[in-house]
Amino acid sequence: MSTIAEALAEVRARIVRAAVAASRDPKDVRLVAVSKTKPASAIREAYAAGQRDFGENYAQELAEKARELADLPDIRWHFIGHLQSNKAKLVAPVAQLVHTVDSPSLARELGKRVAKEGRPRLGVLVEVNVGGEAQKAGAAPSDLGKLLDAVEAEPNLQLQGLMTLPPHDLDAARSAFEALVALRESHGGKARLPELSMGMTEDLEVAVACGATMVRIGTAIFGARG
Ligand SMILES: *Cc1c(COP(=O)(O)O)cnc(C)c1O
Repeated sequence: MSTIAEALAEVRARIVRAAVAASRDPKDVRLVAVSKTKPASAIREAYAAGQRDFGENYAQELAEKARELADLPDIRWHFIGHLQSNKAKLVAPVAQLVHTVDSPSLARELGKRVAKEGRPRLGVLVEVNVGGEAQKAGAAPSDLGKLLDAVEAEPNLQLQGLMTLPPHDLDAARSAFEALVALRESHGGKARLPELSMGMTEDLEVAVACGATMVRIGTAIFGARG
């Protein structure tokens, strides 16, 4: 059993190795520590080891943890789970970035909630179901253009990029990441969509090789989820 600090150091080293192997600057890959189902004490441990970006999947859990950890002023919360419009009010007050906007109606609701909070603009990534897998969340590639326009039409949201949830198989994951990069290119490129959120514990290296600017790592930092 390694401590969270040791596990974090190892994940950071994996990111550095993968970036160097891809001739990229490791600083261009942000590590989002996925803390879903893990207690606030585990987040404090990671925070003490220098981690600032944390990802949560469930709106209620994010709201509760943000409240519990309100004494950590520079912590940054990422919402990475499927978000129903009626839960947007839990996420809008605390999130720095929502990775999973997948419909114009969700964009509208988030924009409305951010305005109500009177907070700065909320960063948004659009989630794409690149493989068109029926059981997966995310916008179909053919709907992406309209959805990006809808996000940009919201004055309280700031479009930052794209996100995808890859298949388990590594070759299939690589294809999904390459497809996301190609979609970025055909929808305005890096100027419009600078961030690519892709890569988890199993496929971190592949994602970094393909151009990920954010990786969402849970298991390798906090251990298996029960
Ligand atoms: C749980 C989760 C992760 C982290 O997965 P690990 O395999 O534990 O690293 C990343 N992204 C999303 C969307 C998740 O739900």
